[in-house]
Amino acid sequence: GVDGSVMLLETQKTPIYDKRGRCIGVFGLSRDITELKKAQQNLEHIAHHDVLTGLPNRLSLNKKLEYALNMARRGGELLAVIFLDLDRFKDINDTIGHDIGDLLLKDVAHRLHNNVRDSDICARLGGDEFVVVLSRIDGEERIQEKCDQLLQVISRPYSLQGHLLSVFASAGISIYPQHGNSVDELIRNADAALHKAKELGRNRSFHYQRELTDSIHSRMSLEQDLRSALESHSFILNYQPQFRVGEAMPRRVEALLRWPHPVRGLISPHDFIPLAETSGMIVELGYWVLRSACQQFLFWRQQGLILDKISVNVSPIQINSSFASTVADILQYLDFDPRWLELEVTESLMMSGTTEVSQQISELRAMGVDFAIDDFGTGYSSLSKIKSMPVTVLKIDQSFVRDINDDINDYEIARAIVLMAKSLGLIVVAEGVENKEQEGTLHRLGCEWVQGYYYAMPMDGEAFYQRYFAELQ
Ligand code: C2E
Ligand code: MG
Ligand code: MG
Repeated sequence: GVDGSVMLLETQKTPIYDKRGRCIGVFGLSRDITELKKAQQNLEHIAHHDVLTGLPNRLSLNKKLEYALNMARRGGELLAVIFLDLDRFKDINDTIGHDIGDLLLKDVAHRLHNNVRDSDICARLGGDEFVVVLSRIDGEERIQEKCDQLLQVISRPYSLQGHLLSVFASAGISIYPQHGNSVDELIRNADAALHKAKELGRNRSFHYQRELTDSIHSRMSLEQDLRSALESHSFILNYQPQFRVGEAMPRRVEALLRWPHPVRGLISPHDFIPLAETSGMIVELGYWVLRSACQQFLFWRQQGLILDKISVNVSPIQINSSFASTVADILQYLDFDPRWLELEVTESLMMSGTTEVSQQISELRAMGVDFAIDDFGTGYSSLSKIKSMPVTVLKIDQSFVRDINDDINDYEIARAIVLMAKSLGLIVVAEGVENKEQEGTLHRLGCEWVQGYYYAMPMDGEAFYQRYFAELQ
């Protein structure tokens, strides 16, 4: 730089030819990517550590647990995953402030860390959630003993800046091999057991039991119900608006699927999308969603409610060899301008880089369909690849927005994502904005688009029309 500092430049060179095609020079264009590179490196670091406590974070836990699990498998040993969560931490935070809340979390982390062996794992998943993994266990009864000891250690009083505090924790336990055979399964089951422990009255632990999660039997019947729902078109779509910060009229909207089940009530997409994926039904369901969302968008237009874009979530399983052509057929049939459509896909799909997927995506892009990466930041291990991804929008995952004002990790990640996205000319949409403070922070970071309960809950097409058409009058 002019001040003598070292800058990192990205340079593009193009040869210049004269009329006869001889090369007479080179045209060079450089841009300063120092900040960008810093943000990237910063993010890679944050990606594996929890800044507040210094403990490994979720990403790092997954890797370490995977390794420990392999060792246990090879040695025919037990392994225990203990999921811990402080009781009523939110109340503490709200009543005595986030600064003390942070100090408390640090102390808890310290106590946990000091009470496990070096060969064990102690990680913080975020908020007040911690995971301890015990390996090379001599005797199953040791697991309960250790867990009780950890709960007891946490329950000793804390002295923080003149406040004397006591806090309790609850724990859920899952054990390899009886409660799971993979990282995901063990963590999920320990989490289910933790919920049970809380239900039973906190400050206690609970061992995973199969009844806590869906039995095979109920999964089978749910799959049958899903199939008949698909045949009878008994799904509905809700719509959630996206705004430019400060504007009252939305410019974009996201379609969200709902399944009103005759017996179980409204089932969340989190609970039935995975089932639709493993059973293959997501392909047909996905086309139904696309068709219905586009129809709704056209209907609004006819009635005078004009929006720039509608975005539709797409599961990786949907992107098969006929995806692009089927989407094209649907749009053509409806006489829907492809530029009004945005497809939300996951980060891992974009990272996968299979030729099939890129082929389908580029066909759609050529037609004018845009792509957004949903839940961005939850798998950012190769953030540097974003540059080569054919997308126009990044949606910051709501898990970073939730505690953006309280958790330095979340703040830093959001900051780096916005910086990165802007330098690449992408639109950033923050998901799950629930209050003014979050909006303020996001806006200061340079995020211009927002979506969340603070502005509107997802609602049906008619309610959406009523609300925003009135806004136009
Ligand atoms: P997503 O695409 O990230 O959608 C955002 C989710 O956050 C929605 O949950 C929405 O209702 C919720 N949300 C919006 N604002 C707030 C807020 O301020 N606070 C909180 N806590 N949550 C907020 P929903 O509708 O339950 O959908 C869950 C996920 O299911 C979606 O996450 C998406 O991944 C998937 N999904 C939904 N519809 C479809 C679909 O048609 N096809 C596919 N493949 N997946 C879908
Ligand atoms: Mg989405
Ligand atoms: Mg999302």
